[in-house]
Amino acid sequence: MSILSKIFGDPNEKFVKGLQPVIEKINSFELEFEKFSAEQLKEKTKEFKERLLKNDTLEDILPEAFALVREAGKRTLNQRHFDVQMIGGIVLHQGKIAEMKTGEGKTLSATLPAYLNALSGLGVHVVTVNDYLAKRDMVWMGQVYDALGLSTGCIVNESGYVYDANYKNDEKDKERDIMGNFKVVQDYLKPVPRKEAYAADITYGTNNEFGFDYLRDNMVYGQNQEVQRGFNFVIVDEVDSILIDEARVPLIISGEAEEATEKYYQFSKIIASLISKEDYVVDEKMKAVNFTDEGQNKIVEKLGFDPWLDNDIITTHQLESALKAKALFLKDRDYVVKNGEILIIDESTGRILPGRRWSAGLHQAVEAKEGAVVKPESITMATITFQNYFRMYKKLAGMTGTALTSAEEFDKVYKLEVVPIPTNKPMIRRDFADKIFKTEQGKLKAIVKEIKEIHEKGQPLLIGTGGVEIGEHNVGAIEKNMRMKEILNREGMVCSVLNGRDTENEKEGQIIAQAGKKGAVTIATNMAGRGVDIILGGNPPDLEEAKIVKELGGLHVVSIERNGARRVDNQLRGRSGRQGDPGSTQFFVSLEDDLMRIFGGDRIKSLMTALKIPEDEPVQAGMVSGSIESAQEKIEGFNFDARHHLLEYDDVLNKHREIIYKKRKEFLESPDLKEKVLEIFAKAGLSPEEYDKKEKELGAENIKQVEKFVCLRVLDTLWQEHLSYIDHIRDSVRLRAYSGRDPLVEYKNEGHKAFGQLLATIDADIADNILKAGMQVHQKPALQSHAVESGKKEIGRNDPCTCGSGKKYKKCGMLNTEEHQKLMREKK
Ligand code: ADP
Ligand code: MG
Repeated sequence: MSILSKIFGDPNEKFVKGLQPVIEKINSFELEFEKFSAEQLKEKTKEFKERLLKNDTLEDILPEAFALVREAGKRTLNQRHFDVQMIGGIVLHQGKIAEMKTGEGKTLSATLPAYLNALSGLGVHVVTVNDYLAKRDMVWMGQVYDALGLSTGCIVNESGYVYDANYKNDEKDKERDIMGNFKVVQDYLKPVPRKEAYAADITYGTNNEFGFDYLRDNMVYGQNQEVQRGFNFVIVDEVDSILIDEARVPLIISGEAEEATEKYYQFSKIIASLISKEDYVVDEKMKAVNFTDEGQNKIVEKLGFDPWLDNDIITTHQLESALKAKALFLKDRDYVVKNGEILIIDESTGRILPGRRWSAGLHQAVEAKEGAVVKPESITMATITFQNYFRMYKKLAGMTGTALTSAEEFDKVYKLEVVPIPTNKPMIRRDFADKIFKTEQGKLKAIVKEIKEIHEKGQPLLIGTGGVEIGEHNVGAIEKNMRMKEILNREGMVCSVLNGRDTENEKEGQIIAQAGKKGAVTIATNMAGRGVDIILGGNPPDLEEAKIVKELGGLHVVSIERNGARRVDNQLRGRSGRQGDPGSTQFFVSLEDDLMRIFGGDRIKSLMTALKIPEDEPVQAGMVSGSIESAQEKIEGFNFDARHHLLEYDDVLNKHREIIYKKRKEFLESPDLKEKVLEIFAKAGLSPEEYDKKEKELGAENIKQVEKFVCLRVLDTLWQEHLSYIDHIRDSVRLRAYSGRDPLVEYKNEGHKAFGQLLATIDADIADNILKAGMQVHQKPALQSHAVESGKKEIGRNDPCTCGSGKKYKKCGMLNTEEHQKLMREKK
């Protein structure tokens, strides 16, 4: 109590203080619950469930339930939830963001609201940033839920698990108690189908896996293939990184488009012959191009048809991409060609971005222009943004060490309130003022000097190599890590490097867990080793070692630059000074850093030239520190806008998706679609008699299956077409900003129109397909290998079919179509 009131003197204090009676109530159960047998703990869970079925609400039960979870924590983990963790738990239960500093024990806090809300039986999801942490938390916390009689599941890439309560092994259990915060004891994970993992009371998993399962569930053809069971309550760990940083790119399930590649070469050739100013005009600043009438005429002549007149939006879009590739994208300025591949050059940093592709056909257009192999365009089969995924839950809560600087975004986008929770012990870490240098070179020298001095004392060092993230990923980070390692190796220091690659999470977790050892030097990107806390003296904990490191001053964090967001800086600082440990942090900045160079403004540029001080002497911090913060705010604002923009556009599609997915669920889950189909028939102007006729022809059982298949199939096909059409619209409205029209308004209007058409087409196509349905069984293509006469070379999928139909083999012979069979008979 006293600690709480000492720390906070703001409205938050009042809120936290207001919870004090609840905390006291929770504490009052402790003596009683301590005496419970293992059986009685589980009994209590049953009692809670029954009370919920009667008149009690979750709020009524909360104090007792939290006390019970604490008791289970004490018995299984040897950890007694601190009072501040109880406060965090209450805040989470209320559907808010609990801002709890790194190392305060958010993993354990989450067990409280997870348990309470799971009592409803509707499922609770806990989201972690990667698969490794999902497994770790499930194996670690699974024992708490198990002691209380609840089941725990976990969903990771390509597999699902439940907590294996039958696996009893004292040795392994001890190992888990001591090192559970970084070590996953696999034996407690029992592999199960995903559906079972979702059926557990509490399911851990990543945002990606939860999101993809949602999309996949809306692509299945049998109800038994669905894996999820609704969206009740979700707790998002590291909520800022998931709901903000990762929310910049939507989740997409994609497939490869067929046979579009030829067109890119054809269009590229046509466009190559066009002449600037005569056939087209370019606006470099807007990155826009426009055909003149003359240009269009030339194209129509060469194509043999008029895509503009035909309103063939896909072809006109591709022609435009080809023109952009010619007029706006220059080799060795915008991209390089390496081993036949087009590699993008980052506009602001000048670095090459391997693996990245421009979207919406542009990359293919550039490939065609350079005569490189055109990789197939990928088509979107399903997509959703994290914002819209998480908004589906009845209740959403989050936790992180750093949320306050993004409170506005959480409020605006997710209606999430941020509540800072006081630390368990007072924080004594020292954050030194930034050291600022004129040049990068000077800065680097000073960094190395400082690292050496501190290392010689034996104090452990964590070196952060973040940087400015604009767009998706910070591609330069790994390079920076390697450079730092080289420099330090040259100085005779041994160091561990963490690159934050997804495949390495578990290994990096093990490394970062030891970063607090005496003399350790660890270099990490700001993503690396997340979620694993750094215990002074190393892990397994050793009191002697810890004492030595504490006397040396604890963990010292060095950052080689300021990051793009203040939040990310704070995350890095938070690595040190956990749970009242000593520690310190030092950020280095140079006026040549990306942050300062690109976003620092004119003041920095004039300083650069005006400053006459030597490069390895720090600049007066007061002169620049304001510029640093304002540069960060600029980037934060820029990225917020980008996400907001994405969301505004996605909201249009989201409405469509909601309607279509609801329709799909009806198709998928209703045992009989006859009534629905009759309605559809009526809309299409078909009579019930026509339906009866078809029903007789196919048989009552058969028509049921046909209906289900046709309805789902038509819906999916047209929905996918709609997705790609919407994509094109989105691209084409951008140009209209040009003529003073608001692209978003235009997008909404056109989107609305397209959706109306989609709904009508779905009905029409369903009716049409059911009418045309026949039940003859197609012969299996298994015959195909025998069909190839000896001596002849095998027919490729895309070769013309040997029957002479003029169709590709895969569309004719492989399917052994009726037409194919007929032609083959005639041939003989
Ligand atoms: P966070 O996610 O808040 O950074 P973690 O959940 O990783 O923190 O926990 C940090 C460390 O604190 C872990 O080693 C954990 O075992 C320990 N811890 C958490 N809660 C308690 C507690 N109530 N008592 C003792 N140790 C705890
Ligand atoms: Mg954590």
